[in-house]
Amino acid sequence: MTKQQKRFIAGAICPRCAQLDKLFVYRIDDKNFRECVNCDFLEEQQFASIQHEPTTRVTRDTGVNEEQAVRLITPPKN
Ligand SMILES: [Zn+2]
Repeated sequence: MTKQQKRFIAGAICPRCAQLDKLFVYRIDDKNFRECVNCDFLEEQQFASIQHEPTTRVTRDTGVNEEQAVRLITPPKN
């Protein structure tokens, strides 16, 4: 029995069409796949669990998925 759960990858850039936020991942049995909704890019991932993608830091103010933003600690006042 296979289960598919599609999850978009925030901030990920498709290696084929270079579009931002078009990639999603899903899992079939023990395999993770990465696919693009914009083109036909499809890649199998070898990781048991989906961790952070290779660092693709793109500074954009698109307002998309700011949920991973980390609050900065307020520096002590002098
Ligand atoms: Zn693509």
